[in-house]
Amino acid sequence: MVALYRRLRPARFADVVGQEAAVRALKNQAAKKTPAHAYLFCGPRGTGKTSLARIMARACNCLHPREGEACGECHSCLLENPTDIIEIDAASNNGVEEIRSLRDSIRYAPVALTYKVYIIDEVHMLSAGAFNALLKTLEEPPPHAILMMATTELHKVPATIVSRCQRYELRRITFGLLRQGVLGAAAALGVGIEDEAADLLARAADGAMRDAQALTEQAAATCDGDITAEAVGLMLGGADPAQLAQWASFLIHKDLHGCLKIANSLISAGRDPAVLTADLAGHVRNLLLASSGGAAMLSEETRAESFVEQAKETTTAFLCEALDVLLQAEANMRWHPQPRRVLEWALGRICVEKELVTTQIIQKPQVKQEKKPTAEIIKKPETIIQKTADASFNPQSLLAAIAQQAPQLTFQLTAGRFESLEGDVLHLVFPPGETIARAFTERPETVAKIQDIASETLGHKIRLQITSKDQPQTGENPMQAAAAAFFGRENVTVKND
Ligand SMILES: [Zn+2]
Repeated sequence: MVALYRRLRPARFADVVGQEAAVRALKNQAAKKTPAHAYLFCGPRGTGKTSLARIMARACNCLHPREGEACGECHSCLLENPTDIIEIDAASNNGVEEIRSLRDSIRYAPVALTYKVYIIDEVHMLSAGAFNALLKTLEEPPPHAILMMATTELHKVPATIVSRCQRYELRRITFGLLRQGVLGAAAALGVGIEDEAADLLARAADGAMRDAQALTEQAAATCDGDITAEAVGLMLGGADPAQLAQWASFLIHKDLHGCLKIANSLISAGRDPAVLTADLAGHVRNLLLASSGGAAMLSEETRAESFVEQAKETTTAFLCEALDVLLQAEANMRWHPQPRRVLEWALGRICVEKELVTTQIIQKPQVKQEKKPTAEIIKKPETIIQKTADASFNPQSLLAAIAQQAPQLTFQLTAGRFESLEGDVLHLVFPPGETIARAFTERPETVAKIQDIASETLGHKIRLQITSKDQPQTGENPMQAAAAAFFGRENVTVKND
């Protein structure tokens, strides 16, 4: 039997979900019969790249398109599997061979349709040789040919190829649309579905409609009748939101017994320790966002108010530490024969050891250390005596020193920039959206470390002042440039959410 997601694959522009901008532009071109010679569809998996290419291939060839949509009735539309629409999977073994033959065959006029269309999936998988062959074709495309390429990894496609294509960036499908997709898939299968089960499936689909449909089909297969939240929870291997909230509450109140009890009951019920750890880390991350004023960044499926409420029970510093430990556990778990013990150990560290850290934070301001630079974050810039900025200050050399002595800090620092040095005050600025990078940097031990390195590099005692404000919109900032210089540009990715 054909998989459900293939049966539900959109056949018309009108059926494509969540990609309004791309659909509008493509429909326009099909309606005016002015298609481009080459298209590049990029975006995460399951967002409809190949489907859009196929729909566009049909629409361009339709003899009587209706507002850009293929009519479904003309000679061209009625042809099944036309030889003039050729699909190449660049990820397959013979992908390279097919690109070579493309160079020759593209010259011949189409047999039955107006345009000969080549759809190249996963185009980033092509070898350098195959890209060269493709480039030759793109430089002088015959008027009867259209190339459509799809990729999940745009950065692996050579710029010379990208610049010759009309590019469409497809977006992750929103939670609301995925949920509708889940309900539609259940309806197509003729089964009922609990509300909470639909939520879980839509969340697990993680932006991909194909996953939403495939997971729904899988859930229906495991259920005898309607799809229940319990069965979906078991299938996905993680914890449900209520359990996670309870678990996090135990963590926040350092109740190790409660934490281990929940872990034990979930694992005994067949949940996977790795998935559970990732789920708990995800919950703590949401708390961290909520706690540092970034609740607006929580995705729509999360109930932001509940995170804001729970975050009030603890400190941002504690959440940073807890997230740190959980992420380490998640990474270590992959190599450990007993993942369950890694999870239990992480919970223990957060509940017992991390208590010391939070106590230190509370006590630190009271301890007077005159000689050493103290971990001090100045919250009110207006209380500082204004001094003129030191024009000789070079943020790049400071960042290079930090990268050498404390490389673990470099990536969080690339989110912000060392703006200026005024007297002994070093200004570190984060854009308002970078609440997590800022929270990590504001940890007393991190501030102390940066102050130590800066004091040593600049030759006098330095106090760090961390603030939030918008970045100037002028390309790469000095912090990114320095990180790129130190790690090599190809190893540095700047993420703007
Ligand atoms: Zn037609």
